[in-house]
Amino acid sequence: MNKIFETKTTVAPYGRVGVLHTRAGDVQTPTFMPDGTRGAVKSLTPQQVTETGVQVVLANTYHLHLAPGEQIVKRLGGLHSFANRTGPMLTDSGGFQVFSLGKHVKITEEGVHFTDPSNGDKRFISPEDSIRIQLDLGADMIVAFDHLIGLDGASDADVQDAFDRTHRWLERCIIEFKRLTKDMKDRPLLFGVVQGGLDLELRKKSLEIVQNSEADGIAIGGLSVGETREEMTTVLEALAPLYREDKPRFLLGVGTPEDLKIAVENGIDMLDCVLPTRNARHGVVWGKDSKRVHLTNEKYKDDPGVIEPGCDCYTCGEGFTKAFLRHQFKVNEPLAGTLASIHNLRHMMRLCEGYRNSHGRMKS
Ligand SMILES: [Zn+2]
Repeated sequence: MNKIFETKTTVAPYGRVGVLHTRAGDVQTPTFMPDGTRGAVKSLTPQQVTETGVQVVLANTYHLHLAPGEQIVKRLGGLHSFANRTGPMLTDSGGFQVFSLGKHVKITEEGVHFTDPSNGDKRFISPEDSIRIQLDLGADMIVAFDHLIGLDGASDADVQDAFDRTHRWLERCIIEFKRLTKDMKDRPLLFGVVQGGLDLELRKKSLEIVQNSEADGIAIGGLSVGETREEMTTVLEALAPLYREDKPRFLLGVGTPEDLKIAVENGIDMLDCVLPTRNARHGVVWGKDSKRVHLTNEKYKDDPGVIEPGCDCYTCGEGFTKAFLRHQFKVNEPLAGTLASIHNLRHMMRLCEGYRNSHGRMKS
């Protein structure tokens, strides 16, 4: 296989600008990836998503597995055809959602038993199942099934146990991935997941195992699960000097402007989160200097300004005022969520482009 990732230049202190090669096209990094949880980025058409500068859309394996089911998606031509998307797509392993079900989850070495919250059906997913489901969905980048534990109330023994299982499961995922993709002409990329909670020694050890495995990429999991920003930063800073150059690095579930800066400057190439679009649907957008603007606030009722002066998104560019947006949120008009989502995604993508433009030109 040809090179997966190429570095164009560095971003101080530990970041980089580069290009990730996938079978669905190149991805310029660093980049933010919105979550199209059930196959769609909520309230946006694929065209609107692309126009914000988004290059990769993430879909959730857990949700698509439960409904409509990967076999239906596969029969309809896979995720790209099903969701009408031409650019690269990434699926997560489903682990995060399964483990979020809390007490309805039972973990064995074989896999995870859980109860479908929508109908009470008993379900089971093994690491091999997760790989098969993701390949059936047809994403261009997929993630190994890991054992995630919440930070709240996790004992050292719990963290160690999840840590060891994550690496055993990674080996099983790699074996299944190789088996199922061996006849593919253009196979997707597999990301292994780094765990270890807030224990820096465990994190470093996990990174060593994952980045020296046969996985194509490195995913940093288990952050943004209740720790503080300082704790997250400490973990990212500890890993930053240790990454191999040739593999892409993906931070799971992190996506505010502040976190993006910390992540990118500490070597992360790609990150995903529901936050920019979820916040937008609740009227919370990023204005000038990434300050939070609550559009439903009374003070905007006659505000003639746009969300962020100078922003090149459709919403600001067309001159939609804060007064108009506030009114549409107040009367529960879905257009408000759409317009706010377009702005928030563009805001995140422009931050990524800022790194790419200011540093990317320095290439020899
Ligand atoms: Zn805007």
